[in-house]
Order: sequence, then C-alpha cells, then structure tokens
Amino acid sequence: MTHSTDILIVGAGQAGAQAAISLRQEGFTGHITMVGEEADLPYERPPLSKDYLSGERPADRLLLRPPAFWAERDVEILTSTTIVSVEAGMAIADDGRRFAFGTLIWAAGGHARKLSCAGAELGGVHMIRTRRDDDDLRADLHSAQRIVIIGGGYVGLETAAVLSKQGKDVTVVEAQPRLLARVAGPAVSDYYKAAHEAHGVTILLNTQVEGLEGAHRVSGVRLADGRLLPADLVIAGIGLVPSVAPLGLDAVTVDSHCRTSLPHIYAIGDCAAHPNRYARGSIRLESVQNAVDMAKAAAAHIVHGDSAKPYDACPWFWSNQYDLKLQTVGLSLGHDETVVRGDPAAGGWSLVYLRAGAVIALDCINAPRDYVQGKALVERGARISPAMLADTTTPLKQMEG
Ligand SMILES: Cc1cc2nc3c(=O)[nH]c(=O)nc-3n(C[C@H](O)[C@H](O)[C@H](O)COP(=O)(O)OP(=O)(O)OC[C@H]3O[C@@H](n4cnc5c(N)ncnc54)[C@H](O)[C@@H]3O)c2cc1C
Repeated sequence: MTHSTDILIVGAGQAGAQAAISLRQEGFTGHITMVGEEADLPYERPPLSKDYLSGERPADRLLLRPPAFWAERDVEILTSTTIVSVEAGMAIADDGRRFAFGTLIWAAGGHARKLSCAGAELGGVHMIRTRRDDDDLRADLHSAQRIVIIGGGYVGLETAAVLSKQGKDVTVVEAQPRLLARVAGPAVSDYYKAAHEAHGVTILLNTQVEGLEGAHRVSGVRLADGRLLPADLVIAGIGLVPSVAPLGLDAVTVDSHCRTSLPHIYAIGDCAAHPNRYARGSIRLESVQNAVDMAKAAAAHIVHGDSAKPYDACPWFWSNQYDLKLQTVGLSLGHDETVVRGDPAAGGWSLVYLRAGAVIALDCINAPRDYVQGKALVERGARISPAMLADTTTPLKQMEG
C-alpha cells in the first residue's frame, strides 16, 4: 500500500518536529506526514545525559509538545517506522510500506557510534542516544558500582557528573591529551578535568582502549598499555554516525536553504552539513540550535521559495555538569588566541576565542551575562584587545570594536 503526502518528514526528532511546526507557522496547509524510527513522539535529547538520566525529570516532560498538539495542527506522526530507501519521490520503510511524497525533509539525525573493539557486544555496555538507551542504562545501573565511560566529550562528561553524584565510582577514558579536545580550548578542558576530579571522578587522558573483557557481561576495560580497569558497566560516548544511507549517499551537504543535491529533498539537523559563515565553510553541527534553525530555514523555503531567509544563525550550545552551567556562543574552530575573562577559581568566568584578532566564540561558565553580551561580539567579529576582553570591570556590551 502506498501512503501519499505532500511533505514527508523522516525523523521525528528535534529537527523533524520543528520543521512540522514551522511549516504550519509559515502557512503551509497541505498534508504533512512525519515518520520516526523510535516508538516515542518527538522528545528532547539533551536531558538524556542530564536530568532524565538522574531521574529528576519524568518521561512525559521529555516530549517537545504534548500529543494533542500534533493532532490540532494536522501533523500525522507514524512512530516505529524506519525508512530504508528513497528513490524518485518514494520512501520505503523496512516493513515494505511506501510513502509517495511531493517534498521530503530528511531529519534522521544519527546513531550513536559503536565501539569497534573486542567485547563491544557484551552485556553491560551502553550508549546514550535515545530514551530507550537511557531507560536500559538506568535499569542496569542499580547493580553496577564501577562505571567506565569511554569518551571525554560533552555526553560522556555530563553522564560522569550524574553518575558520580549518585555515588558511583566513575572513570572517564579519553584518547586525546585533554577533555573536550574537539570543541573547547585547553583552559576549559583543564577546568572540567579539575571539577570532575574534585567530585571523585578518575580521568585518564592519552588513553586508548584495547578491548572489553568479560564472559557474558563486561567485567573490565583493557587499555592499550596493558592495564585492566575493573568495570561493572561501560558507557561509550564516542560520537555520532549520521543517518543518511537510505538517501544513497555517504554524507549529506545542503545549501543555505537546506536543499540537498537531490530533487525535492531537504536535509536538516545533525545529519546534514551546511554552509556556515562562522565555520568559514561547510560544517555539520550537533546541537538543538542547529536542528531548530535548519528546520526553520527549510520550512520557510518550502513555503516561500528563494525569497525565504536562508540559514545564517550564530551557533550556540550548552552543557550542565554539577553546578557548572556552560554556555557557548560561536564556533572556536581555528582560533589562534584565547583570553580568560574572570577568575576560574572564583566562580563565573569565560574563555574568549579569537582568530586573527576577531572574537569568534565564547565559552561562558556560570557567566550568563558574558554569554548574552558576547553574542553580539561574535556576530560582528569584533576586534577587541585581549587586555580589554580580560577586564571584567567593563561589560562586554560596552566594548567597541
Ligand atoms: C545525550 C545527549 C545530550 C545532548 N545534549 C545537548 C545539549 O546539552 N545541548 C545541545 O544543543 N544539544 C545537545 N544534544 C544534541 C541534540 O540533542 C541534537 O543535536 C538534536 O537532537 C538533533 O536533532 P535531529 O532532529 O537532527 O536528530 P534527532 O533528535 O536524533 O532525531 C532524529 C530522529 O530520526 C530517527 N531516524 C533515524 N534514521 C531514521 C530512518 N531511517 N527512518 C526513520 N527515522 C529515523 C531517529 O531515531 C531519531 O528519532 C545532545 C544529544 C544527546 C544524544
């Protein structure tokens, strides 16, 4: 049986949900069908390594919108539906259902990258990408005390913070010489290392995993230097593999209206690289901001054509660990200078990133004012001397340049 729709959205996540919302806000009155692989209606992923993992936020408060919202806006959502191929105006699900579309919005995010070492399939080895992953992890945590987290990025560190607060013995294993190496400067990396260690987390840098050991269930992590870390449970936070294979592509790049090179197919969110002036080129971002803003750009183009506003948003991001609230604005990629603003030992502070003398990003830790005011500096690429940026007696909004 073939299901026909004007717009098919594949992926019922952050970007897919926003695309449906924005299409209606822009005045689109045609038929919208959203299909998603998961059993859930669209929900927020960030709490999966924060207050949902800790049990502070209940499942019903994960939903991006209440169930009635979608019906009221006449958005048809089919959950537990995986699209396996797309060809000439037709998307095909793994159970053979066919979806004929006028326009396709590919919003399929990605899947958590799996460990490739020996033992990766043992019981007690977890990843965090979906609510289901989190529920499985939480159920398994009761009987686990020694936790090894592989990967010192945001997801791994947020998870370490939640679990150490629950009294678990947590070790983070990171292959790079510092935490958050891909996304933050050394001052931020060092600060988070010290914060985790102060909460009793063991951080192992420059450390490669050789394999996981255990009979049916994991009992230890063998490191490349021969050491064995005893482990009741292992969590891999080693990144994302974009879900784009059903489009017949290895990677998806879109233009500033989120159009792919395939006719009538847009791609948005974690799965799609887009031209971004803050990156000075094409980049694939994994953030709520990017998912939402790409969705808005695609919806506007579908409704208004080339007169629609293209994607040109300044990237922002956040991370919560312990009582540390990190807010990032801009992209620090390619910075050649950093300025510490404020005293990290005293509480709120920011790391300002510059490239060729221009402010390109800020990491603000418990410093919401710097974050809010710093955005304008990033947007205009302000040229301000490092001495001035470091002067906390002058608010960033008063700095000219
Ligand atoms: C644990 C965790 C913590 C995070 N914390 C933050 C944070 O603090 N701040 C921040 O800005 N960002 C955070 N992020 C990132 C943010 O959640 C993502 O950038 C955002 O969800 C991307 O939205 P998306 O719609 O592109 O992808 P997703 O939200 O992943 O949605 C894609 C959906 O498509 C489905 N799908 C995939 N393939 C198919 C297919 N073939 N057919 C049908 N459906 C398919 C997937 O199952 C999924 O439901 C976090 C992510 C995780 C996992």
